[in-house]
Amino acid sequence: MWVLKKVPRPERGADGLILPLREVAGGGWHHVILDGKAEAVAYCPKCGKEGYLDEHEIDVDGVVTPSLICPHPPCDFHERVALQNYES
Ligand SMILES: [Zn+2]
Repeated sequence: MWVLKKVPRPERGADGLILPLREVAGGGWHHVILDGKAEAVAYCPKCGKEGYLDEHEIDVDGVVTPSLICPHPPCDFHERVALQNYES
């Protein structure tokens, strides 16, 4: 299982929108508020690009179900992942 490290959330711009952090080399994750709900954004350990985890279950240990499939072809990352420090 891959463990994704917690990375800083992107800052809000002057217009109130969160500035996108498009890629994180080596992968990572952070919380985000999506439609008023706390969700998580993961960054692919292989290509570094982002994907929302709003269709996934995340347990108290940060283990993500089902496995993470990178949504950015031609990247073929498809592995079980866990979010480090998910509850802290
Ligand atoms: Zn990828």
